[in-house]
Amino acid sequence: MTVPAMSDLLIETIHLDKVYGSGETAVHALDDVNLAVAPGEFIAIMGPSGCGKSTLLNMLGALDQPTDGEVWVAGENLAKLKNVDDFRASTVGFVFQLHNLLPTLSALENVEVPMQGRVGSGKERRDRAMHLLTLVGLGPRAKHLPNQLSGGQRQRIAIARALANNPKLVLADEPTGSLDSQSGEEILELLGELNRSEGTTIAVVTHDPRVAQATQRILRMQDGSIVEDHRVSDPLEEDLRALAFSKLGEIILDPDDAPMQEITPEEELILRKLIERLRR
Ligand code: ADP
Repeated sequence: MTVPAMSDLLIETIHLDKVYGSGETAVHALDDVNLAVAPGEFIAIMGPSGCGKSTLLNMLGALDQPTDGEVWVAGENLAKLKNVDDFRASTVGFVFQLHNLLPTLSALENVEVPMQGRVGSGKERRDRAMHLLTLVGLGPRAKHLPNQLSGGQRQRIAIARALANNPKLVLADEPTGSLDSQSGEEILELLGELNRSEGTTIAVVTHDPRVAQATQRILRMQDGSIVEDHRVSDPLEEDLRALAFSKLGEIILDPDDAPMQEITPEEELILRKLIERLRR
């Protein structure tokens, strides 16, 4: 059996390629992605729409098969898994933008679903689900149906559900995408807290620089490749970097290529923060 080069990694991808379709319509969604993530890291995956972020996340969660290359998660070569469902249920927790909660089940029951057949008795499952709902601040809403809760609360349930089987890795695809900024911040704080207190490794796909800056490491993708990989450091440097990689940064660098247009609210916020800080 081959062992990964550094077996103490939680995630390792080796020359990972994914091509959708074939011939003239082939799309190279991932192109030689080599990624190493240590246990306990909290990473953000950024980049323009269509650059391969979701494809990469799906590969890490064994939701899709590579065309070429290897994916190792928690010491397992995902191509050699004996039971993919078992791996997904026990090692990975998924949080998506659309919460995928079952509408006819209560918050508590939704969190219990992934534990079926894994965690001991019905009572043990119920107790653990209640513990997790309390952890995400929703204990008092355990009996509510998803449509009786706000978007932010539903996302908290999705996080509690992702944690049901105590996964080593949580994969989140735009977890704050459908939320107002206040709820988005709360969800981020929750993920950060989970990372610090439980040591859970978390990978978040996002296009929001504020979300990315709440993590420890930012990967930027373009055309299926990782083009930048850096540790989050000084907030000022992070803001400058976010600005440099924004649409506005592109326009400033190459005004002939793209006409000056309205800046996005995210860019405006970064600019405002920068100006305020520099004026202090
Ligand atoms: P992102 O998450 O960065 O927006 P994706 O990973 O969803 O990007 O997609 C990367 C590329 O692969 C895009 O060009 C997309 O159209 C293509 N793609 C994604 N999924 C499929 C699929 N199931 N079939 C064909 N093409 C796909």
